[in-house]
Amino acid sequence: MKNLSVKLKLSIWLTLLMVVLAGLLLTFLLFISNSVLRQTAMSQLTDSVRSSLGQISMDNGKLIIDDQFSFYRNGVSMLIYNQHKALLAGQLPVTFTTEESFQNGVIRIVDTGRDQYLVLDLWMPFSWEDGVWIRGLVEAPQHQQAVRNMLLAALVSLPVFILLAALGGYWIVKRAFRPLERITRTAAAINEASDLSGRIALPPGRNEFSQLAQTFDQMFERLESSFESEKQFIADASHELRTPVSVIKGACEYAEKYDESPEDHQETIAMIHRQAEVMSNLIVQLLRMTRLEQGVEPIKMEPLDLGNLARQACAEYDGQRFSIRTEEAVTVQGDSALLTRLILNLVENAYKYGKENGHVWVSVSKTEKEALLIVQDDGIGIPADQQEKIWTRFYQVDASRHNSGAGLGLSMVRQIAQLHGGTVTLESIPGLGSSFTLHLPVS
Ligand code: ADP
Repeated sequence: MKNLSVKLKLSIWLTLLMVVLAGLLLTFLLFISNSVLRQTAMSQLTDSVRSSLGQISMDNGKLIIDDQFSFYRNGVSMLIYNQHKALLAGQLPVTFTTEESFQNGVIRIVDTGRDQYLVLDLWMPFSWEDGVWIRGLVEAPQHQQAVRNMLLAALVSLPVFILLAALGGYWIVKRAFRPLERITRTAAAINEASDLSGRIALPPGRNEFSQLAQTFDQMFERLESSFESEKQFIADASHELRTPVSVIKGACEYAEKYDESPEDHQETIAMIHRQAEVMSNLIVQLLRMTRLEQGVEPIKMEPLDLGNLARQACAEYDGQRFSIRTEEAVTVQGDSALLTRLILNLVENAYKYGKENGHVWVSVSKTEKEALLIVQDDGIGIPADQQEKIWTRFYQVDASRHNSGAGLGLSMVRQIAQLHGGTVTLESIPGLGSSFTLHLPVS
């Protein structure tokens, strides 16, 4: 039983239930029909005997039987006896062979050995000492016969009926379990091929299987994206760390061979330190982005005043090369740490790629639907054909012109904006400057 499939177990259980139910129903029916039959026979007997009373009379010691009197009515045999219990009229049924004593007005069951009869006697007095007994006899409904007939009908029809029910039940259960088979197949295929792109994709529905499939699909989706970002992290990290690592290796080999004075050693150590710094920055940024992508970095959304946040983030920038203008009450839903990171990335870039002694402008304002944060510089600008590419990881317009950056800042800016349901746009003219605008929904 343990090894049977759920489908089979369910079908067997339902079939057994049907058999028991059918048995119970049959017994109940037999019981009911038996008592109904007996009741009917009794009331027929009573009616017949009573109605015959008015059709018999006595005239001058002579028994007069009305023309309407019938000795056999509705299956009831009518007999007339005198007061000495001698049969005056009527004919006993052939199988009624017993001598049955007379009892006035009581229906009895008389067993003749071969058949059972219901008997009712009524005493009809004509005078003080004269009168007749009217006896009605009817065959008691044959219980055994009814049982036999019913059992026969049940024996013929029930197996067919139960077989049909079992087959139908199995077919329905099998159909109902089909989605489960699909879920199992998809999960097994994903497991065997280690390909997380498979989806169960059941048509949307409200039953338990559709919901289970949807949950599984969401889980596969999450697993796939987390697996992809981990793969991406490993590829990015190993690719980007290769350069500083080989610089450090080269510097160490060179120092071992040629560095003689403490000044030489000092210079090499400073270079190694710089490269280690680059590596550490890179790893921190990459980890942060991967965590954001995977959704493991906790994000605390709360109502924030974007103007205040921008002022706090830029508190360290000096007043001569920097101006900030904020409208009041520009409220957004956001994570203050993430939005501060976004603002700083834009402002740091504005300085990094700005003119010598150039200027950086930050402004916060709002329209009907959007909160806007603009970071503008009068720096080198970005050529039109590069403006789409700068958002991709590690992309740098001119690798030689940057300092410690790794090309991750803007891709993080876009990621944070998207996490807040917003976007970042860019307007830039090479030689004149760039203006980055963050659009967030107002809360
Ligand atoms: P990083 O600054 O570390 O190189 P980012 O992702 O922040 O990486 O920027 C990508 C590239 O976009 C930079 O290398 C730079 O060439 C260009 N860029 C970003 N901000 C500006 C800006 N304000 N002005 C001009 N170029 C910019």
